Amino acid sequence: MTLSLSNIRKSYTTAEGSIEILKGVDLVVGLGESVALTGESGSGKSTLLHLAGGLDHPDRGSVVMDGQELSDFSERERARYRRTRVGLVFQQFNLIPSLNVAANMSFHAKLADRHDPAWQRTLTERLGLEPYLARYPEQLSGGQQQRVAIGRTLAARPPLILADEPTGNLDEATGDAVLDLMLSLAKNAGSALLLVTHSSRLADRLDRKVVLRGGRIVE
Ligand code: ADP
Ligand code: MG
Repeated sequence: MTLSLSNIRKSYTTAEGSIEILKGVDLVVGLGESVALTGESGSGKSTLLHLAGGLDHPDRGSVVMDGQELSDFSERERARYRRTRVGLVFQQFNLIPSLNVAANMSFHAKLADRHDPAWQRTLTERLGLEPYLARYPEQLSGGQQQRVAIGRTLAARPPLILADEPTGNLDEATGDAVLDLMLSLAKNAGSALLLVTHSSRLADRLDRKVVLRGGRIVE
């Protein structure tokens, strides 16, 4: 797995006119690598993650996954990319309200054709979710929902996980523990990780740290 972002530009149109948020971003994430993406609020971190995940299109530049340019994909290929190649963990957990925890956990793995009951059991145990398997998302606390969202993504063993402040809703100690767990489980699954955090303390736990500033990666 290699994700290469080259000279990515992205503008948004607002009431005040067009604002260029990304002004030529270059970033490579290699096989099994964990990269922390940091930067001030509003610097474009979530925008960049959406582009890498194929949820949005850059104005210019290329997003290349394993030699394939995302903009060359048909809608069908793009959907397949999102289903099988990347796993997303966003702050809004996007759990499926009509499915219990067990079914939420296996949902993406089944879509990706990688459902592995033993691996799902391991994740359930490590994330402390056994007591809640029969519950529905609305019956869980924010922290519990966050762990389900993380487990659901890891269960599918995607080659690349894109995580947007995945511990942002947890207190510091719980957030640290969940992040450590996520890092170790991602290594276990062989997944590369591009993780947005504004905590440099958390960022230091990853293989590499980059900063988005002024629309570019500066370090
Ligand atoms: P970060 O995740 O680093 O906080 P974002 O990528 O969410 O930053 O947003 C970067 C900037 O782009 C912000 O100023 C935000 O208000 C703006 N922005 C994000 N999405 C949109 C959108 N869909 N339309 C207009 N402006 C947007
Ligand atoms: Mg953001």
